[in-house]
Amino acid sequence: MKFSSQTRAQSIAQMKAETFDVLIIGGGITGAGLALDAAARGLKTALIEKRDFAAGTSSRSTKLIHGGLRYLEHYDFALVREGLRERAELLKLAPHLDDPLEFVIPIYADKRRNYDHPLLVRAGLFLYDFLAGKYNIGRHRRISQAAALQIAPQLDPRGLKGALVYYDGRTNDSRLVIEIIKTANEHGAAIANYVKFVSFRKDAEGKVCGANVADELTHESFEMNARVVINATGVWMNDVRSLSGALSDDDKQLRPSKGIHLTVSAERLNVTTAWLIPAIGEKRFYFVVPWEGRVNIGTTDTDYNGDKDAPGAVQAEVTNILQAINAYFPSAQLEPSDVISAWAGLRPLISSGNTNQSTTAVSRKEEIFTDRDGLISLAGGKLTTYRLMAERGIDLAVEQLHDRFSVQAKPVSTKQIILSGGGIQRAELEAQAQRVARNENLSLEVAQHLLHSYGANAERILELTHEDEALRQSLLPDLPNLAAEVIYAVREESALTIADVLTRRTRIAMLGAAMNCVEKVAELMARELGWNDEQKAQQIAAFKAEYDREYLTH
Ligand code: FAD
Repeated sequence: MKFSSQTRAQSIAQMKAETFDVLIIGGGITGAGLALDAAARGLKTALIEKRDFAAGTSSRSTKLIHGGLRYLEHYDFALVREGLRERAELLKLAPHLDDPLEFVIPIYADKRRNYDHPLLVRAGLFLYDFLAGKYNIGRHRRISQAAALQIAPQLDPRGLKGALVYYDGRTNDSRLVIEIIKTANEHGAAIANYVKFVSFRKDAEGKVCGANVADELTHESFEMNARVVINATGVWMNDVRSLSGALSDDDKQLRPSKGIHLTVSAERLNVTTAWLIPAIGEKRFYFVVPWEGRVNIGTTDTDYNGDKDAPGAVQAEVTNILQAINAYFPSAQLEPSDVISAWAGLRPLISSGNTNQSTTAVSRKEEIFTDRDGLISLAGGKLTTYRLMAERGIDLAVEQLHDRFSVQAKPVSTKQIILSGGGIQRAELEAQAQRVARNENLSLEVAQHLLHSYGANAERILELTHEDEALRQSLLPDLPNLAAEVIYAVREESALTIADVLTRRTRIAMLGAAMNCVEKVAELMARELGWNDEQKAQQIAAFKAEYDREYLTH
């Protein structure tokens, strides 16, 4: 069965009736990874997500698959090595979504325009290559001023001495999450978006044995039974954990840190490689990353105490970033009106409680807590290392299942499980795109977009266009998304609201004038999901409110 609203209904029926080995709360990258790992090991697995998959931090990252060059400064070598290895794994497991990319660091005569002394940066890159070892995806090198200007003609040539080039990976975060979720579902996990964890159920010994949950679409409450419960709610970790009332004794605290990004058009900022742009006079840099035909710029790193469900970018943050970028790309002179979207994410950092330490200095290593009632909570970490984090979380669950319930798990590693859509080798993607463009009479841009977003599943979208010619229409004139993607998102990726389609299955909310196609998307979804006119209007209004809150500057 496809992963649709019907699958969701079936999963919810299962959730009401059965006892699961593992119940996972949270459908970001961490929860998705846990669900796949548990299901692949043959455990009876359930996952609930209160909004949509990846609606939290996992759709708002810089979208890099990396070891984290910056963490070398904190001597976090093990963390960097782990990220570099996982980078190589992910490039293999989801070749359609993850690709290697050149990252360029400019070197200027004026030392205020360099992140650090160029020799130190170079030493860092030697170490980065060394730590990657056989998992390296390309060795760093130094390039001349002329070569740097050739790849970025708008770069300020005054005092430019050259640049350093190294390699990391780039991904599409919310699509990565949905591909993992779908793969977990294929392995038997019962998964439902828009189901909220409300409170724990405990057995006679005071151990967690399930949860009281609410279907956010029907407002129906029901009970779920599970032998082990895992809390993968990211920045909401403490809200959930505190309800268990049996916190383990530790002094570690969740410290949400906000990071914003801007998306601008590739015509206004002409870069074909990613750049690391130092903020003048500050020990920080911004990434400038070509992405889905646009350019993403970010990020910031500041403590956050606001509403975790609705972080947004404020004008002053946007202005600071634009000023920083204009100082290096003076002929671009980006203005606030160039910003297509501005979005904020919250890092679920785990700190030792030292608030004098800046959020930038807090380690990105994940932390796993097991409370006295058996609840396992995971947070921290990075998108890149989700697979390892999940393996560690499920190892702990397996111990509990073995010791308390004599349940055995199969020795399966997710290293061997190609993610949904990942069945085409990266080297074949371009040839496939050309073939699709030719055979289907589509532009190469559209074909490339389909292959890179959906991999082997692009075939399913093409089939939809064969069934209904109208689905070949573009959703917006300047983006390659087809109407068929809306139907695919509903029928095969459990999209239930307009934001699920426009923000997380496709990335139109970040990339273009989403409000210009909202009627069309609503019409297509209404046909699939049986919305009447009133429901359609409500859905449009809900999307507009979410889009204003989360993708426009305040
Ligand atoms: P989330 O994605 O937030 O998922 C938690 C989920 O739990 C949410 O969907 C939420 O709705 C759900 N939830 C909460 N409460 C409940 C409840 N009561 N019931 C049911 N569900 C609930 N990492 C990288 O590797 N590369 C990068 O380039 C990178 N860039 C980043 C840039 C920024 C600005 C930020 C903020 C982070 C970045 N990261 C990056 C880190 C990475 O994005 C996060 O570590 C990761 O996305 C966290 O995933 P998560 O699943 O733990 O949390």
